[in-house]
Amino acid sequence: MNFADYALGEPITDTKAPAGPVAERWDTRRFEAKLVNPANRRKHRVIVVGTGLAGGSAGATLAEQGYQVVQFCFQDSPRRAHSIAAQGGINAAKNYRNDGDSVHRLFYDTVKGGDFRARESNVHRLAQISVEIIDQCVAQGVPFAREYGGLLDTRSFGGVQVSRTFYARGQTGQQLLLGAYQALSRQIAAGHVEMHARTEMLDLIVVDGRARGIVARDLVTGEISTHYADAVVLATGGYGNVFYLSTNAMNSNATAVWRAHRRGAYFANPCFTQIHPTCIPRTGDHQSKLTLMSESLRNDGRIWVPKAKGDTRPAAEIPEDERDYYLERIYPSFGNLVPRDIASRAAKNVCDEGRGVGPGGQGVYLDFADAIRRMGRGAVEEKYGNLFDMYERITAENPYEVPMRIYPAVHYTMGGLWVDYDLQTTVPGLFAIGEANFSDHGANRLGASALMQGLADGYFVLPATINDYLARHPHAEPVTDDHPAVREVLAETEDRLALLLSVDGDRTPDSFHRELGELMWEHCGMARTEEGLREALARIPGIREEFWRRIKVPGTGEEFNQSLEKANRIVDYLELAELMCLDALHRAESCGGHFREESQTPDGEAARRDDEFAYAAAWEFNDGAAPVLHKEELTFEYVHPTQRSYA
Ligand SMILES: Cc1cc2nc3c(=O)[nH]c(=O)nc-3n(C[C@H](O)[C@H](O)[C@H](O)COP(=O)(O)OP(=O)(O)OC[C@H]3O[C@@H](n4cnc5c(N)ncnc54)[C@H](O)[C@@H]3O)c2cc1C
Repeated sequence: MNFADYALGEPITDTKAPAGPVAERWDTRRFEAKLVNPANRRKHRVIVVGTGLAGGSAGATLAEQGYQVVQFCFQDSPRRAHSIAAQGGINAAKNYRNDGDSVHRLFYDTVKGGDFRARESNVHRLAQISVEIIDQCVAQGVPFAREYGGLLDTRSFGGVQVSRTFYARGQTGQQLLLGAYQALSRQIAAGHVEMHARTEMLDLIVVDGRARGIVARDLVTGEISTHYADAVVLATGGYGNVFYLSTNAMNSNATAVWRAHRRGAYFANPCFTQIHPTCIPRTGDHQSKLTLMSESLRNDGRIWVPKAKGDTRPAAEIPEDERDYYLERIYPSFGNLVPRDIASRAAKNVCDEGRGVGPGGQGVYLDFADAIRRMGRGAVEEKYGNLFDMYERITAENPYEVPMRIYPAVHYTMGGLWVDYDLQTTVPGLFAIGEANFSDHGANRLGASALMQGLADGYFVLPATINDYLARHPHAEPVTDDHPAVREVLAETEDRLALLLSVDGDRTPDSFHRELGELMWEHCGMARTEEGLREALARIPGIREEFWRRIKVPGTGEEFNQSLEKANRIVDYLELAELMCLDALHRAESCGGHFREESQTPDGEAARRDDEFAYAAAWEFNDGAAPVLHKEELTFEYVHPTQRSYA
């Protein structure tokens, strides 16, 4: 398959969001959606792939409603999903601080933060539901940080001027996931959730145009199995690992969403990748993973580089007036708390100017000296202690004594499967939730909004909207393994694995993954140009061709075989990467995480081009031929597009 070009298809629209005032749309949709009588729910099976915050909360809630849930994850336990890594917090418009927050402000901040490339209806719903999430999690016993008076404590994240981020030290994802896992475990024990851990979905089964099941592989025994249901939910997380080095868990991958895409689900805005500004810099070629230092650190840490190029003195020897606190200088209103896309680009710019610190000049300082002076070491330790410990374990430097060094790295993918307001993809009966869908963050996700979206989708949105689909398709004919559509998918899966095992070449899966990742980082990373993207598009088919000629997968398919797992995931990365570059190439504007060097303001800020690109790009797979682009026009009735300003 070569994506030489693309074809323009019919526009696509979201037909599920009701008309009327934005604040009433969610109530209207819930009221208009059909319901399934509680006694009939147990007759419906729903497959949920994924047990992170989105999948865990969805599986637990659907089972609690009475549906039969069949759930999958590739980890050894649902509670080891990648969501466990989330550190900083979760947003909610509770306004406990009385600092001017409201549902409307969270809505406004998110639409603006996403650089006006998200749907207003979805974002408003997200802001409304944010307050319910906190209540739900507190009721489950999630140990959020509290103030001395007992109210939940909050802190600030980038791109906002209020304090609305709820947290549990630097382990918010872990604590929230334990809450969802608890609820899921209750349903597993009650027999309403059939849990398949260490089982990876390898393909989607579509029968008569509807999603009816999945093909999965037991990662321990290698057994391939089929599973059927009335609807399939993908909660499989993001695809940032296409870049090889990212802050994601190493086994996070794109197979589920990419296979669904190949079976008819449109893929939206694949080029919208978030580069997080505060990661521990890369130290060499030996690394297979990067580590995030939470954005919460920007509440108290100050970011700076030396004013002079090539200044290699230790930080302590650089006097105050020879330091450039560049975010505070360029963006005085938001200072160190500008959104991630802006902070990342600014770090890249100062490093490109030759003012970066640490090995290779690929770093900037995140300095807590002022905070320690102001609050005392004890208070800093209480707020960020586990993050400081983690930093010290990795770098062997004590951040209480010397500033941390940080640099941007791939962190999150705003793109994903296109879904309508009901979170249904273009394949009827296939839903996508959490980071796996494209819905709410536009071209740049604000910090602490992914956990909010995953839990909004899983606890609240999907359980309300999937009823409507199931009520309208009450008694689907059972599907069995001898159905021609199933036989075809099974044969394709088995052939692909057999081919990977049979090539017997001389290169490891990791070597191809690294090569692809480096190419993507160089040409489809923090800054992109037409020339670079064309070069990547020219080179990827060659890597793919070489992969199928030289890949070496030792062992067999009938056993625990991590090389086979990896190689199979790289097959999908090699195709997805091409679509990402094509999407980035066609979007000849800068917006959010997508910075096209040709599209800048005179002072070097990203220049959006609303007249041409105010749409979500939904790509249709077109086996062997050019992908088809369907544009979903975005309209803004409440938050009018402006050039984002954080100065
Ligand atoms: C280091 C780090 C820190 C972060 N901190 C924050 C934060 O403080 N606040 C915030 O809002 N966001 C944060 N994020 C982002 C946030 O953690 C993620 O976006 C979010 O947790 C994704 O949740 P999810 O449920 O969609 O997917 P995941 O948690 O990624 O779960 C995916 C699930 O799908 C399963 N799966 C995937 N593919 C398959 C397959 N083919 N077959 C079977 N199972 C499959 C996996 O086993 C897993 O159970 C952070 C991200 C990182 C990397």
